[in-house]
Amino acid sequence: MLPEWDTPKRILVVLAHPDDPEFFCGATIGYLASKGHEIHYALLTRGDKGASDRSITPQALMACREKEQRAAANVLGVKSVAFLDYPDGYLEVNLQTRKDVVRLIRQYRPDVLIGCDPLNIFSMGGTRINHPDHRAAGWIVMDAAFPAAGNPFYYTDLQDEEGLEPHTPQEVWLSISPQPNMVFDATAWFDLKLRALHEHQSQIGDPELFDQRMRQRYAPGGTPEQPRYEENFKRLLLT
Ligand SMILES: [Zn+2]
Repeated sequence: MLPEWDTPKRILVVLAHPDDPEFFCGATIGYLASKGHEIHYALLTRGDKGASDRSITPQALMACREKEQRAAANVLGVKSVAFLDYPDGYLEVNLQTRKDVVRLIRQYRPDVLIGCDPLNIFSMGGTRINHPDHRAAGWIVMDAAFPAAGNPFYYTDLQDEEGLEPHTPQEVWLSISPQPNMVFDATAWFDLKLRALHEHQSQIGDPELFDQRMRQRYAPGGTPEQPRYEENFKRLLLT
């Protein structure tokens, strides 16, 4: 269950690639937006290696994926989408990427920061390797959230030169967690999630076959007759 809040929250989603927000937690985002919470995306790359066809240039792919990501965010009711332009596939956990995410946190000043769990090393029930950018993005977001974003002695030039005051989000939610402590029943929001994912045309192939595959990813207890879907998070409280 997600927390019930009395007032609208500002939520910042920081992930590696266009389509990560929808794949990892699109149902949750759609639900939160429908409740009046203000949601912003920041993607660390534009997904310029998200193709196997060499006839498409990275520039054309970036433009396409940016457009797709904006359309998908629109379906879910997300307010803005920003891109940080790190090269796809080469995302590193270092002081520069941490600083860039600290800057985002100090700019957007979210109540809730959503990233992904860097401890997700093997995905799809332990049968696949989780993308290295996902693991890197998870570490970067976690390291930026605490203690750097809220501590005035980290990246002092952000304050001195850009006027960005320290800010600590109240909560960090790490999606696709192998050890979740918060589960969202996504069943009623699954159609919306698929609709948003359909905007990522360059990534999903035939939409009908894609839907078939996605609809087979039942949560525990789900069956073809009574499908159930979940999105899982590690919820961390910082304040
Ligand atoms: Zn990804």
